[in-house]
Amino acid sequence: QATAGPIIRVEQLEVRFGDFKAIRGLNFSLAPGELRFLIGPNGAGKTTLLDVLCGKTKPSSGTVRFKDNWDLAKFQEHQIAQLGIGRKFQSPSIFATLSVLDNMLLALKAQRGLLRTLLAATAAGQRERAIGHLETVGLAHKSGLQAGALSHGEKQWLEIGMLLSQEPELLLLDEPAAGMTDSETEKTGELLVRIGQTQTVIVVEHDMEFVKQFASIVTVMHEGSVLREGTMEEIQADDQVAQVYLGR
Ligand code: ADP
Repeated sequence: QATAGPIIRVEQLEVRFGDFKAIRGLNFSLAPGELRFLIGPNGAGKTTLLDVLCGKTKPSSGTVRFKDNWDLAKFQEHQIAQLGIGRKFQSPSIFATLSVLDNMLLALKAQRGLLRTLLAATAAGQRERAIGHLETVGLAHKSGLQAGALSHGEKQWLEIGMLLSQEPELLLLDEPAAGMTDSETEKTGELLVRIGQTQTVIVVEHDMEFVKQFASIVTVMHEGSVLREGTMEEIQADDQVAQVYLGR
């Protein structure tokens, strides 16, 4: 499934809400295997960009291509999930009264692709895969617990595990560490780096300390387009970025 080109290529994207342009002339591309952090002041259009990438919001104009092939404007949200783009929203959507493992097994049933379904058809195979993903997110030892009894951070990790069950090639995460304790935040950063070794990940994040610690390449958005892209050192040394954050 290796692609020579970018996994995401956005060209001249515009998203209008009535007369207001939330995204204006945005160009953005992402190589497969990158863990990319998206930052920028409130209202910059970060969430809207994630919404476009997962099909929740349609482009007003411009193009968004997945793996240089799929024109995402032509697909519905659930079809985009099937193509391999997984989105985690901020509010958890776990089943509180079911066990952690059962939540994972439910998520596995929603996985994409007939072949994958056939390969994982046995109950034992499903369990094994569910536990594998729970190990990735650090919850294997809690598989028998009711999901509702997990801490806030653990619930977020369970959701990431459920997302991994769909085997997305691109994961979109909106403030994955919001509301977490310091130690949970640290673990979440490590988890992102680990996931980033096998999948492409875009993370919208407001916590600059978190970004500094875990980001390699950062994209700074401002007023609906990309202001700068670079390493955190480059971004921090940039006058325009400083201006945008300090307000004008
Ligand atoms: P960010 O995530 O960077 O804070 P958003 O993408 O949430 O920014 O929002 C970008 C701009 O678009 C904001 O000014 C916001 O008010 C506006 N916006 C977002 N969604 C809608 C909508 N559904 N209707 C009208 N305006 C919207």
